[in-house]
Amino acid sequence: MKTVVLKFGGTSVGSVDRIKKVANIIISYVKKRYKVIVVTSAMSGTTNDLVKKSKKISNNFISSEYDVLVSSGEQISCALIAGRLNHLGYRSQSWMGWQVPILTDGNHGSSRISKINKKKINKFLQSRGIPIIAGFQGVNLNNRITTLGRGGSDASAVMFAKFFKAQKCIIYTDVDGVYTTDPNILKKAKKIKVISYEEMLEMASLGAKVMQPTSLQDARLNRIDVDVKSSFTNKEGTLITKRKNIFNKKTIAGLTSTKNDAKVTLLGVKDKPGMAASIFKPLSKNYVNIDMVVQTSSGNKRETDITFTIQLDDLSTTLKLIKQNKKIKYRDLIVNKNVSKVSIIGVGMITTPGVTYRMFQTLANKEINILVISTSEIKISVLIEKKFVKKAISALHKEFKLD
Ligand code: ADP
Ligand code: ASP
Ligand code: MG
Repeated sequence: MKTVVLKFGGTSVGSVDRIKKVANIIISYVKKRYKVIVVTSAMSGTTNDLVKKSKKISNNFISSEYDVLVSSGEQISCALIAGRLNHLGYRSQSWMGWQVPILTDGNHGSSRISKINKKKINKFLQSRGIPIIAGFQGVNLNNRITTLGRGGSDASAVMFAKFFKAQKCIIYTDVDGVYTTDPNILKKAKKIKVISYEEMLEMASLGAKVMQPTSLQDARLNRIDVDVKSSFTNKEGTLITKRKNIFNKKTIAGLTSTKNDAKVTLLGVKDKPGMAASIFKPLSKNYVNIDMVVQTSSGNKRETDITFTIQLDDLSTTLKLIKQNKKIKYRDLIVNKNVSKVSIIGVGMITTPGVTYRMFQTLANKEINILVISTSEIKISVLIEKKFVKKAISALHKEFKLD
C-alpha cells in the first residue's frame, strides 16, 4: 500500500463544517487504498490570537513558553478531525509532536525537524488507523515543546513525507494552487501547473505565503514532490517538483510582494573600513535579519549613507541597538514603515537578457520610484512605497506576459 501525507491549513479546518469536509477528503484517500497520514494546522485565527496574548503578557515573552502556548491550537484541530473520523466509523487518533516524537534542532520559535520516530505511527498505520499529527510542533533534546516558525505545518507535512517515504505530499489550502501572484491581490493572477523547487522557494521567501520557505528547502533537499490544492474545490492544483521535470518555461514564473518590511537609513556615516560591520554586528548577534542593503557615497568621500531593510517586528530592537552602539557615528536616522518589496522570480531570467531593464522601465512608466534594489540569479527585488504595490504588481504581471 502506498502512503500519502495530507496537510490541512488553518482555513481548511477553520470551522466544524470545514472539519467535516476535511474528514470526507481523508476518507476518499482511504477508499483509494492509501495509508493516510494527516498533518493539520490550527483553526484559522487561533495561532494569531495566541501570539497576541503572549504580547499582552510581555513584550519579551520567554521563547520556550511561547512555543508551548502557540502550538496549542493544533491540539484542538487534531482532536476534532480524529473525533469526526471515529464518528464515521474509521479508526483514528491524534498525535502531538512529543507523542510521536518529532525531534527538532535549533531555537525555540524557529526549530527544524531532525528526526521523526516512525515506530508508533507505523504500528498504527498497520492496524489501519489514520494518525492525525499536530503540525508546526516538535520536541527538543530537553524534552521541551518547540515550534517550526509561522506556517510551519507545511514543513511538518514535507518531513512526514520524507520519513514515511510517501508517494504524495498534498498541501490542502484555501486557494486551488500556486498562482503567478497572490490571487487575493491581483484578480488576473493565473494558476501555475508546475513550478520548480527553486522558484517556489524564492516566491515563498519573498512573500508568497502559500507555502512556508523552510518546507520548500526540505522538499528540495529530499526531492519530495508537493501538490498544492484547495480543500474547498476538487480542481487540479500545482505541482512543485524538480526543475528538469518542467518544460515550456516562461521567463518569469511569478511575482510577490511583502507586507512587513521597514527601511532604516543612517545618514552621514563615517566612510572608513569596518563601519558597516560595526553597524550590523550587534544586529546579527540579536538575531535581527538584514534583508536589502545599499550604501551610497557622498560627494566629499568622507561620509556615506547606509540604507537597509528589516522585518517590521525587529524595528524597535534595531533602533535600540543602533542608538546604543558607541562604535558608530551618524548625522541622522530615518525610518520608513510604509515600504514593500516587490519581486519578480523565474529561472528563465538566467538565459534571457534585458529582464532588469524591463522591470525598471515598467515601474518608471507608472511613475513608481525605486528605493532599494537587490538581485540574485533568479529574482529581482525592488523596494517601493507600499501604496504603489498593486499598481506595480499589475503592470509587471502584464509586462512579463502572465495576464
Ligand atoms: P494555510 O492556512 O492553508 O496554510 P496560508 O494562508 O498560509 O494557508 O496560504 C494561503 C494564502 O497564500 C492564500 O490565501 C493567498 O492569499 C496567499 N498567497 C500569496 N501568494 C500566493 C500565490 N502566489 N499563490 C497562491 N496563494 C498565494
Ligand atoms: N498554526 C501555525 C501558524 O499559524 C502553523 C501553520 O499554520 O502552518 O503559523
Ligand atoms: Mg500556511
